[in-house]
Order: sequence, then C-alpha cells, then structure tokens
Amino acid sequence: MSDCIFCKIAAKEIPSTLVYEDDQCVAFKDLEPQAPVHVLVIPKKHVESVLALQEDDKALAAHILVDVIPKLAKELGVAEKGFRVVANTGEEGGQSVKHLHFHLLGGRSMQWPPG
Ligand code: AMP
Repeated sequence: MSDCIFCKIAAKEIPSTLVYEDDQCVAFKDLEPQAPVHVLVIPKKHVESVLALQEDDKALAAHILVDVIPKLAKELGVAEKGFRVVANTGEEGGQSVKHLHFHLLGGRSMQWPPG
C-alpha cells in the first residue's frame, strides 16, 4: 500500500534496522523500544491487522508464528528466560500502524495486565 510506513520499510524505501528478512516477512528494531529487545515482525504483504487475515493468509501467519518469531527469540537471546509477543489490534487494542505487526519484546520482566 503506497502510504503505509511498514510497506515502505519492507520495500526498503525508508530506513530501518532490519534483523531478519525472507520472502514473506521482515523484522526490524522498534524505533521506540519498550524493552531491551523490541523488534517488529511484519508480513511483506499489506494486511491491516489480525482481523484482516484471510483464509489465504494462514500459511503466512503460521510462518511468522511458528518459524520466524521463535527463531528470532533464540537469536536475540530471549528464548530461555521468556519474552512477549503482542499484536495490538484496532483502536482500543492500541494499534497505531495499520499494517499487521507482531511486537517481540524481551530482556526484562514483563508486567501483567498491560496498560
Ligand atoms: P502499534 O502501536 O502496536 O501499532 O505499534 C507500532 C510500533 O511501530 C510502535 O512501537 C512504534 O514505535 C513503531 N514504529 C513506528 N514507526 C516506526 C519506524 N519507522 N521504524 C520502527 N518502528 C516504528
């Protein structure tokens, strides 16, 4: 999508600190990290949110959750102690960028409930 900042990051039209890329998704450091490790994993394809995922996107969603996030958690050194995966969705979910993204947060103890 032409005016989507995360589409532009995926297309490398605007800079980011990429930590992972494959044919379906990229991961990059969050600009305003909320934990020592804070990366965003996004599909290259524009999908607005978890709610917008379609039947055809099942393999993509599984790839991100089954293959990419656990691999990154290990590479980034947070797998052993634990980490949090968050997909803020919609207005009350706190989603500010309307391109599906999974926050991978770790490196400190997380609190519950979230704010
Ligand atoms: P959310 O509020 O769940 O939609 O998360 C959006 C996240 O994107 C926030 O944590 C922002 O800090 C992050 N963000 C926004 N623009 C950029 C950017 N250009 N590069 C990296 N992270 C960004």
